[in-house]
Amino acid sequence: MQDFIDQANKNGVTLLPAGRCQFCGADYQRGIFECMEQYNNGLQHLDFTNSEHHLSRFLSVDAHALQHPEIHGRWSNHFHLTRLNLILDKHQTWYYKKSPLLSDYLNTYKLNKPHEFLPAPKPLERGSLTAKDLSAATTANECIDLIRNWANDVYHAWRASHSIVSTIADGFLVNNNTRKAPGGKTTNHEQHLMKW
Ligand SMILES: [Zn+2]
Repeated sequence: MQDFIDQANKNGVTLLPAGRCQFCGADYQRGIFECMEQYNNGLQHLDFTNSEHHLSRFLSVDAHALQHPEIHGRWSNHFHLTRLNLILDKHQTWYYKKSPLLSDYLNTYKLNKPHEFLPAPKPLERGSLTAKDLSAATTANECIDLIRNWANDVYHAWRASHSIVSTIADGFLVNNNTRKAPGGKTTNHEQHLMKW
């Protein structure tokens, strides 16, 4: 957990220890701390040995990350928003091996755009659904539908940056057709959420 606290410090953001999550508005008692701890509980109906459920995991990580940009580095927003663009707008199939490829592509991209910044929507204006709403699901299909709505909602909230990430996504797709082996890493936010 320390990494996200460190990152908030680095971003000059004070983490509030009580009440709703100050970033996504989820109705918790211990704010962002509970929002991070409880994330996986909302996915309990999904079976990650079933590849059909993997997409929901990517979408949920992206939605959660983009609702909490204060607790990771700014380039993580490029990663998560570009992946949502690829999945939701460009209807790309996604699987685990593609994430390091996208990360690699962004590492090269940012060398040419070192100052590019995606402006985050204001806290509490990053989509009306949150990870906590997933607890309403009683079946895998309900959970999958909720995650899709959550991801769409968050993606829409970041619409000011859609044209940038759409261009990145196009470049990635062209580049990806000529690449072979993945070598990069996923984002810290993703590594944190996907630790089981
Ligand atoms: Zn939250």
